[in-house]
Amino acid sequence: MPAALAATAERPRTPATPTPAPTPRGVRELLAQGRPTFSFEFFPPKTDAGERTLWAAIRRIEALAPSFVSVTYGAGGSSRTRTVEVTKRIATETTLRPVAHLTAVGHSVAELRHIIGQYADAGIRDVLALRGDPPGDPKGRWTPHPDGLTHAHELVTLIRRLGDFTVGVAAFPERHPRSPSWTEDIRHFAAKCRAGADYAITQMFFHAEDYLRLRDRLHAVGCLTPVIPEIMPATDFRQIRRFAELSDARFPDHLARRLEAAKDNPADGHRIGVEYATAMSERLLAEGAPGLHYITLNKSTATLEIHQNLNLTTDHATTDTE
Ligand code: FAD
Repeated sequence: MPAALAATAERPRTPATPTPAPTPRGVRELLAQGRPTFSFEFFPPKTDAGERTLWAAIRRIEALAPSFVSVTYGAGGSSRTRTVEVTKRIATETTLRPVAHLTAVGHSVAELRHIIGQYADAGIRDVLALRGDPPGDPKGRWTPHPDGLTHAHELVTLIRRLGDFTVGVAAFPERHPRSPSWTEDIRHFAAKCRAGADYAITQMFFHAEDYLRLRDRLHAVGCLTPVIPEIMPATDFRQIRRFAELSDARFPDHLARRLEAAKDNPADGHRIGVEYATAMSERLLAEGAPGLHYITLNKSTATLEIHQNLNLTTDHATTDTE
């Protein structure tokens, strides 16, 4: 039928059917719904066996219909290619909403544009914009690529300019280790939000108060950007020293003592870590945290148990309609 006629033709009468709610496009829209999000973080595996473990975890987590999953961006070379490949595969072969981590480390602006374009081509609309740490020694001197970016707020601006992405950034409940003061830290975080960050995910932490104090500090300067706490189940005594080294997170003495006592009994360590993370997650949600982002280490067991203990569900649709 010609369009002009179609516009005037009497429409057949059909019983009214409820219009389905529009599918949230990105994490920004999910958070705007006001229900706690729950999400899982993976890293790009190095081996074929690692790849199989990752995909087994992804498939188990897919069954829960989480709000989103994220894939960390490697320090360089092949691990970066794997990040892009895994993230694209999640977008195209699963019902999950992937959030792609991206760092400015070692990249020119032209390269960053190219990677963001690859994500967009795969239908990925969510990027976590990070500066990253110096490769080799994460605590070493930070030197930007000569044609690259110096701080995360510039990456937020770049991604925003390139398309309609939802952009997340990093937040640090115990302050970024390079920030000389809380005032500086909060000022620079607020700059990421002014550049267009829609939300933040925190560094791992083990004291709920650290998250709550960070939120108070942000509110005090008028920064109301949702900050999703990152939950790391600490189930193994041997992990503790490594956590402390990598993240500068303060580890509770009483938890360290309990895990040390259980060091020859992995099942006990697992139970202790899951119990602690469950209790901290409950507290954070009760205090109004907008969601929880679980570090999986590419295994799903501990995070799934925490999630089941919390009995969180979501009715977020996961298939993009646009
Ligand atoms: P920025 O926001 O740029 O901050 C870095 C430091 O510079 C801070 O001390 C800040 O206060 C300061 N600063 C910011 N702006 C200015 C300015 N204009 N002038 C002076 N100082 C300034 N790393 C990876 O390599 N891959 C990942 O996938 C990854 N995922 C992460 C996910 C989360 C949730 C978190 C919390 C961290 C992640 N990281 C990852 C680590 C992160 O890249 C490092 O912690 C990095 O040191 C900080 O990144 P940023 O984006 O916060 O940087």
